Amino acid sequence: MTPADAKPCDLCQQPVQVRYRIQVNQGGWILACPTCQAHCCHLPGYRYGGTWKSRSIKPGRR
Ligand SMILES: [Zn+2]
Repeated sequence: MTPADAKPCDLCQQPVQVRYRIQVNQGGWILACPTCQAHCCHLPGYRYGGTWKSRSIKPGRR
């Protein structure tokens, strides 16, 4: 099941509701799913630029 507001990961094209804005090797910013982000964080030049979340994910209460 894919939520209507899921967006594809720039690397694996899997629709996800949470993506990380990352940069690798001085390239452009990409939006990667948590799985791809976990792989890319080992690469040289890795930078983390924030998290994108679907609107359907409500902020957790504390
Ligand atoms: Zn991915």
